[in-house]
Amino acid sequence: MVKSGAEIRKEFINFFVERGHSIIPSASLVPGGDQTLLFTNAGMVQFKDIFLGVEKPAHKRVVDSQKCMRVSGKHNDLEDVGRDDYHHTFFEMMGNWSFGDYYKKEAIEWAWELLTKVWKLDKSRLWCTCFKDEKGTIPTDTEAEGIWLNQPGVDPTHVQFFGRKDNFWEMADTGPCGPDSEIHYDRGLEFCDKKNVPGHVCRVNGDCKRFVELWNLVFIQYNRIHADKLEPLPLKHVDTGMGFERVVSIIQAVTSNYKTDLFFPLIEKTIKLSGQTKEQWESNPTPYRVIADHCRAACFLIADGVVPGNVGRSYICRMIIRRAARFGSKIGLNEPFLAKIAEQVIKLYGEAYPELGKNNLSILDNISREEIRFSRTLDTGLSYLDELLGKISTGSVLEGKLAFELYSTHGLPFEIARDIAREKGFEVDETGFRKAMDEHRVTSSVWKESDVNREGNLEIYPEILKKLTTEKKLDAKGVAYDPYSSMEVKGEILAIIKDSKSQPSAQLGDRVEIVLSKSCFYIESGGQVSDTGIIESKNWTILVKNTSRPTSGLVILSGEVVKGEPKVGDACVAKADAVRRSDIMRNHTATHLLHAELQKILGPQTRQAGSLVAPDKLRFDFSFPEAMTEEQIEQVEANVNERIMQDFSLVVVEKPLKQAISEGAMALFGEKYGKMVRTISMGEGTPFSYELCGGTHTKTTGDVGLFLITNESSAAAGIRRIEAVTGRKAYDLVQKRMKLLKMSARILSASVDQIQEKAEDLVDELNSARKEVAKSKAELTQKAFAGKLNQVEMVKGIPLIRLIVENSDADSLRQMSDEFRAKNPSGIAMLATVSDGNPLIIVSLSEDLVKKGLKAGDIAKEIAIEIGGSGGGRPILAQAGGKNPKGLQKALDLGKEIVSKILK
Ligand SMILES: [Zn+2]
Ligand SMILES: [Zn+2]
Repeated sequence: MVKSGAEIRKEFINFFVERGHSIIPSASLVPGGDQTLLFTNAGMVQFKDIFLGVEKPAHKRVVDSQKCMRVSGKHNDLEDVGRDDYHHTFFEMMGNWSFGDYYKKEAIEWAWELLTKVWKLDKSRLWCTCFKDEKGTIPTDTEAEGIWLNQPGVDPTHVQFFGRKDNFWEMADTGPCGPDSEIHYDRGLEFCDKKNVPGHVCRVNGDCKRFVELWNLVFIQYNRIHADKLEPLPLKHVDTGMGFERVVSIIQAVTSNYKTDLFFPLIEKTIKLSGQTKEQWESNPTPYRVIADHCRAACFLIADGVVPGNVGRSYICRMIIRRAARFGSKIGLNEPFLAKIAEQVIKLYGEAYPELGKNNLSILDNISREEIRFSRTLDTGLSYLDELLGKISTGSVLEGKLAFELYSTHGLPFEIARDIAREKGFEVDETGFRKAMDEHRVTSSVWKESDVNREGNLEIYPEILKKLTTEKKLDAKGVAYDPYSSMEVKGEILAIIKDSKSQPSAQLGDRVEIVLSKSCFYIESGGQVSDTGIIESKNWTILVKNTSRPTSGLVILSGEVVKGEPKVGDACVAKADAVRRSDIMRNHTATHLLHAELQKILGPQTRQAGSLVAPDKLRFDFSFPEAMTEEQIEQVEANVNERIMQDFSLVVVEKPLKQAISEGAMALFGEKYGKMVRTISMGEGTPFSYELCGGTHTKTTGDVGLFLITNESSAAAGIRRIEAVTGRKAYDLVQKRMKLLKMSARILSASVDQIQEKAEDLVDELNSARKEVAKSKAELTQKAFAGKLNQVEMVKGIPLIRLIVENSDADSLRQMSDEFRAKNPSGIAMLATVSDGNPLIIVSLSEDLVKKGLKAGDIAKEIAIEIGGSGGGRPILAQAGGKNPKGLQKALDLGKEIVSKILK
């Protein structure tokens, strides 16, 4: 019986639990403290601070299975994913850890025991490597060698030494480091893919597919002071990492990770959906592997709060979903299908990683929606790419700038454009693409899809900037931009742009874009909207409605000339609207307070996903799987107001990015930060809020005034949205509500405090009054009906009553027919009324008549035609309804006809 992946994972964990280890859940794929890292890419990421000695470990022995993602940067496996059997974007890393506790002896013994005794791997296929410095400056790890040689059944010729590249581990240029020992598995000569490569030596670390590294045991024993000085660490640590997918493939004795039960159910599902055969899959496995790998990764990303988007991690999430979808189209999967694969992923991994089940809906919804979005732009994107490739000769490189355009306007991620280009024999310039993406981000600061489509002639802005710097009207830094120290600046008009052209002057009523030498107007960034205001001189005034930075170094104030004729060269004063800006600053400071309290109350996995800081409100989007409860919302609002009343000063400091991050400042991933960053913190000692932020803020939290949450809703799957008001808007809201309360109190003739009680009493009273009315009505109708009970006709000897009752309803009519039937054990009633404007007939007859061929249901059905409707029911009781009340009498006449016909 082959062991399942889930069993192997459990066995690893349990093996170390039995040896005194505590289980630590996998850290999120989004590294908590480390904003410089895109994704958690190794098991040690969450323990970095312990190795650095900054943090004290809660347990000395720990075991875990860590979710890892390698998709960009130094460890970029994306291009190999799908082409071979063992590269993945997402993978699991099993590890056991000792923080200053056990060391080499236990680590090696246990590794050998688990592999050979528990998992029963063939000892003759295992190889162990130890460290020997080729430069001869770091001591040889004979300690590890000795321990390996002592293991039962180890082949002494299989214990070998390797140098720094393979067997020495360092976290960075300085800091903790040490030798490591690896265990490799020999899959057999038939797996060597380099037999025909001249000079290939088939051996461990020989770079062919025969030897697979299973497990790396790192012994952290030194601290590197500088390039050639190591000193021993007081506490020695063990850090191990086992590639889970590889181990499973060896234990399950399959030739590919994709044939293990970690992936194969996903591939089987894809084969089924595509309608292809197993032979087709075997002969062209790449699309299946890419779909399985990428879909698995996307599920884990979304479960950790990373939803598809345009920058940073979100871009990766978007890109892998789109790449999987494109590979789907290669095997005939042209409709959205990935959610079906994702369901399979959640089933397969949900037990080991409960976050998948918890975010089930968000995962499926985000994946499907991204697939649909992609399919909308795919065709135009592909034909545009074709067009671009048609213009260059085969074998050459497509410009990065054009590849960026493919993404920004046609939604085709770089990685997919490159896939396609390569299939056709072209390359795409990646550096150029990244540069274009960065430039775009700098100019727009916060990415908006609409930014790309700024109207008119975009070339004019760099031209103007170049002209002004050559003429020395601007220095190399461009327009001096300082929205922090003052709300007005004196300056000179350097350029007027109208209809996308540079003009010497403008007329009354013209819509213009103005370049000044200095600007105090804030430019939209980090969610905070741009300032408005006026530019004026003695003779003219321009109303400024927006501020922007179309190209780095150039600030544009755009608006309308409302007085006079401004000219280039005119001296002037630019004044930002101070009242509006104060409102904005209150909302910005409140946004930081809100962010901090959300993290405190909902947990640190709550991540900012977007924000708007406007004069009249603030909006804050964050990743969180479910709606907040009423209590959570009230708690967050109360805490923010508490912070406001504590009246903390805001501390604004510029410092190096590295320092800010290491101090724990919150940064938005995907935002581009320079080497020096502006930080905003609040609270004495350890600040309760600490963010990288270029926005403008109040001096103290007390300036915010009052904070009220007006709405909590869903912004997208897995993303919640809070809207709130502060300061004047909050006061307006309170005042409006107070007025409403007072008015309601007046109407109820009560005090404001009594409103609730009074309203409840009134509702009770109303309900009992309604019941009374209904009861009297029924009584009245019944009395009236009793008087008509004698209006019985005899049809072929059977009593029949036909009546149109006023102001009745179905229930009352049924009651009346019961009464009639009580008096006439054998008889027929056809009672009609008009209820809410619509005609209604109840047909009822006694059981004995059913035997004579009468069926109430059939009668109701037939006579319904006369009232323009339909009818039906049981043989003894049926109902007809319609739209034409005028047909009621005719319907009843028809009823009588039918009865007499059938009774004969
Ligand atoms: Zn080989
Ligand atoms: Zn901010």
